[in-house]
Amino acid sequence: MKTLKDFANYLREKHLRDFTIYYLTVIKGMDIPIVKLVIEKGLIKDLADENAIKMTMDSLAEFLLSLEDNTAIDKAKESLKIWEEDKVPGIGKNEILPSDIILLYAVQKKAIFHFLPDYVNDIVESIAIVQEVDSFYTYLQDEAIKTLFNIQKTTEEKLKQTETIRQRLFMIAEASTDFIGFADAKDRHIMYINPFGRKMIGIEKDEDVTKYKISDVHPQWTNKLLENESVPVAMQNGVWQGEAAFLSQLGQEIPVSMILMAHKTDNGKEVEYFSTISRDIREQKNAEEELKSVNKFLDSVLDNIPNMVFVKDAHDLKFVRFNKAGEKLLGQTKKALIGKNDYDFFSKEQADFFTSKDKAVLSQNDIIDIPEEPIDTPNGQRWLHTKKIPILDPKGRPIYLLGISEDITDIRQANTELESKTKELERSNSELEQFAYVASHDLQEPLRTISSYVQLLAERYQDKLDKDANEFIAFAVDGSKRMRLLINSLLEYSRVNRIKPFEWIEVTDLIKEILQDMQEQIKESGVTIEFKELPKIYGDTVLIGQLFQNLIANAIKFRGEKNPEIRISCERKNDEYIFCVADNGIGIKKEYAEKIFVIFQRLNSREKYPGAGIGLSICRKIVERHGGKIWVESELGKGSAFYFTIKTTLG
Ligand code: ADP
Repeated sequence: MKTLKDFANYLREKHLRDFTIYYLTVIKGMDIPIVKLVIEKGLIKDLADENAIKMTMDSLAEFLLSLEDNTAIDKAKESLKIWEEDKVPGIGKNEILPSDIILLYAVQKKAIFHFLPDYVNDIVESIAIVQEVDSFYTYLQDEAIKTLFNIQKTTEEKLKQTETIRQRLFMIAEASTDFIGFADAKDRHIMYINPFGRKMIGIEKDEDVTKYKISDVHPQWTNKLLENESVPVAMQNGVWQGEAAFLSQLGQEIPVSMILMAHKTDNGKEVEYFSTISRDIREQKNAEEELKSVNKFLDSVLDNIPNMVFVKDAHDLKFVRFNKAGEKLLGQTKKALIGKNDYDFFSKEQADFFTSKDKAVLSQNDIIDIPEEPIDTPNGQRWLHTKKIPILDPKGRPIYLLGISEDITDIRQANTELESKTKELERSNSELEQFAYVASHDLQEPLRTISSYVQLLAERYQDKLDKDANEFIAFAVDGSKRMRLLINSLLEYSRVNRIKPFEWIEVTDLIKEILQDMQEQIKESGVTIEFKELPKIYGDTVLIGQLFQNLIANAIKFRGEKNPEIRISCERKNDEYIFCVADNGIGIKKEYAEKIFVIFQRLNSREKYPGAGIGLSICRKIVERHGGKIWVESELGKGSAFYFTIKTTLG
């Protein structure tokens, strides 16, 4: 019995070309949309074309073969799957209509039936084959409809999704705090501006934006930029980004950071519209301006500081700031210095030193003081006194290192000179003291001889020679007395520096003793002396006694007309006692306040106020021996107050 399988074999082997031509002729007469589309798209030139015949023959041969080996259903399903997955070459899945499939199946069926009577005479066999063909195509039709249904469903879903996305994007645009807008690419009229954008350029909420063109909302310079650069770049690359500006309705320019995008039509051939997302950068610009002016101010402050000031990045120790004084010292411009570190300018040894200090500052998070550091400059080696300070971020981590360096080369040199001069002075002073001591000591002996003989002369020959001689002798006696006074004072003065061990002294007791010794003077002058509890000090008892005695004696000696009064007091200031011996005597003119402490300097006549003029210089020496200072505060006629300081602590 003949079957469809045999029939297919028969068609393929014996009538393939006839079968194909018949098939094509039917198609041609049927006006099937897909066939038209294929020809329109240029995928096939013409159905009568030899090429088309050949291609169709191949595919029909394949189809017949699949009927022969029972794979026809699978093959047909495969084709439907290709359609569903949108993989048909040159044709989109939505371009294929359900009628296309049904009609093509019908044509195939018709062509098969056309050749059937030639092949079977037996009516039963014929019916069997017809039934087989029918059920085959009924099955395929069902499959095709299912496929179609699937395609429609996914297409719809996609459309829905696209619509949701579009909705969401619109909402985002409406809520955005950036300027968002679209404009037509051809005539450049605006299609949409979001609410924020409208507000930014002053377009009313319900005002129609389509009446504006792109050029209406930008200043001239931006329009030029758009035409010459932004639009061409966006057309070429799809996007342009840069700084531009909008122009508000009130004529105010609003600087923005702009993204301009060019959107192409579906076929991708031409630009359909432009969109922009632009951010208002007024605040940023203002902040930039402010920063610039703050920086300028800071620079001018730093540049006016006479010391070198620099700032290094804590991370890599590269200079980030440098002032004029620094430029001058290093003989380098700011430009050359910024971004470099010490190793770019100094010897390794020096750079190592600077860097080690920097690291110490940053790791300790504390200021470092470097009293003296040498530095090589184009003007030779200089000495700096540098302070390095860590600059911290809000979390307390160092971000910068601030350095302030004073050029102390000249001071240092002056100090060295001063030091050597002081040493020299000390040496010559001590030589002088030595000399004064030796001289006054050695002079005492001959002076004693002269004094006693002059004294003898006076006793024996007074009134025995003439009147002149009497006077001469009196002068000689006087002179020798005075000389003794001077020499003794000098000796006393040079003895002050003899070192004796210091001890604790009860000053109150000491004063009482002194006053006891001076009882006669006190009585005679009628002076009242007042003092309260005085502190304990550490010093040379003999010298301190001498100091008080000299001051009290002077206060008595230089008393005035009023009842003489002396007050001895003491107050503490930090680690010093300030003692004061004050009187209500004749006082001292201000200009002599220093002079009176110099050896042999006196202000008054010898007749009225006897003395050698050495007491106060001894006082100064004693005070200085104890590490203190002495001075006088006085007014002529109103009394004097002598002050001196003594350390409260040992030494
Ligand atoms: P001297 O008392 O021997 O003259 P000093 O060195 O003690 O020498 O004093 C120097 C000078 O300072 C005195 O000659 C006197 O002119 C002045 N002087 C010192 N103490 C007083 C005082 N308490 N009041 C006024 N003048 C004083």
